[in-house]
Amino acid sequence: MRYDTVIIGGGLSALMCGIELARNGKRAALVAAGQSTMNFSSASFGLYNAPEPLKAIAQLPQSHPYAKVGVEQVEALAGVATEIFNIAGISTVGSAERNHKVITPVGQMRECWLSIDGVVSAQDDKLDFNSAALFVPEGFLDIYTSFITSALQQMGVMTSLCHFSLPELVVRRNNPTEMRSVSVARALDKEENLRALASIIVREAGDAEVVLLPATLGFAQNDVRERLERMTDRRVLMIPTLPPSVEGVKAERALRRAFEKMGGAIFAGHTATSYQTDENGEIVSVTTSKDVTLMAENFVLATGSFIGRGLEADRQGVCEPLFGSDIIGATSPLTDIDIYSPQPFMGCGVDVDEQFHILKQGKSVDNLYACGSILGGYNPVKEGCGAGVAIITALSVAQTIINR
Ligand SMILES: Cc1cc2nc3c(=O)[nH]c(=O)nc-3n(C[C@H](O)[C@H](O)[C@H](O)COP(=O)(O)OP(=O)(O)OC[C@H]3O[C@@H](n4cnc5c(N)ncnc54)[C@H](O)[C@@H]3O)c2cc1C
Repeated sequence: MRYDTVIIGGGLSALMCGIELARNGKRAALVAAGQSTMNFSSASFGLYNAPEPLKAIAQLPQSHPYAKVGVEQVEALAGVATEIFNIAGISTVGSAERNHKVITPVGQMRECWLSIDGVVSAQDDKLDFNSAALFVPEGFLDIYTSFITSALQQMGVMTSLCHFSLPELVVRRNNPTEMRSVSVARALDKEENLRALASIIVREAGDAEVVLLPATLGFAQNDVRERLERMTDRRVLMIPTLPPSVEGVKAERALRRAFEKMGGAIFAGHTATSYQTDENGEIVSVTTSKDVTLMAENFVLATGSFIGRGLEADRQGVCEPLFGSDIIGATSPLTDIDIYSPQPFMGCGVDVDEQFHILKQGKSVDNLYACGSILGGYNPVKEGCGAGVAIITALSVAQTIINR
């Protein structure tokens, strides 16, 4: 099978790159081994952990992925990302010029570039409501209720708390591991359960301005929050949960659908295991664990960091297992004994040139690019830029390929 571009990976970065290529008329295929980190993230996308992210990005050292893209291009590509989310039917709020804040499952307010419409968020540290009723399923494990109510109260929001139950949730509660976001969301996909919840809300919410629920509103359906708003005649907002994340899973599914609708192919459940080169060292094809060989003009490595197995570590060091790319940031020691300090291993990753061509033994491979969390030179946790780097570098690589 022959494509313009084969992208190895199935997460946020691979999907963004694939969609940008496909909507510009390129034949793109994704080789996607397993679940991506979108399934665990709360779908609140961080560009950079500063009130004005673009100003902070302009100061970054040249080794940082954003510095390779350039701040003006980061701004332009942030606009492209919002457009792609819209096309995929993912409704987001936020701008690259000024971060807003979103509440976390443990009641902290965190800097954010784009969040899913309907998640509790604040601009300039102010929420746009004064009273709220928080509804949480009895025995629910994925948010810290008392931290959330006290955070809201500190922000001047009068908050009441109601634990609720529904017959289907009582059955699930017999198994404690079932009281997780995904199983509650599956229950709320059913009309009878949603109606039962709406009656509880109407009865218990008093005169609270907004109703808050953990982000468990529908797994297979997208309009559950809006339907609940109509049934209760209230504004309904969501609190992000601990992983697994319903909104993250839904966002990934929506991006996959958009990519396939544009003609993109996904080889799901395939792991790229080997590659073939021509006499100039350019990649001509990759072969997958299911013995499928895919040929292309360009290849993009978007296999993620340690969690996606894009990077592997042992006592000898860190490596990128597929192409054996050069690694930067693998300084010793790789960990800091203080677990609250930024961990040095988070800065490890594949070394690339200014256009994100992968370096092998110091030399760039002309038709092989890397994007997303496999890149080195930045710390996604400390800088709050995991999703931002995944998206911006993916779009930058896609545009380089389009203009090639
Ligand atoms: C728990 C958690 C919470 C997070 N929260 C936030 C947040 O709130 N805000 C934020 O901005 N960022 C957050 N992030 C970071 C952000 O989600 C990631 O940086 C981003 O999604 C990385 O995307 P990626 O596509 O580069 O990699 P991944 O999502 O890791 O995807 C890589 C994919 O490649 C596949 N793969 C690996 N090897 C192969 C192979 N050989 N062949 C085929 N496929 C392969 C993997 O199976 C995986 O599907 C969070 C991350 C985690 C883990």
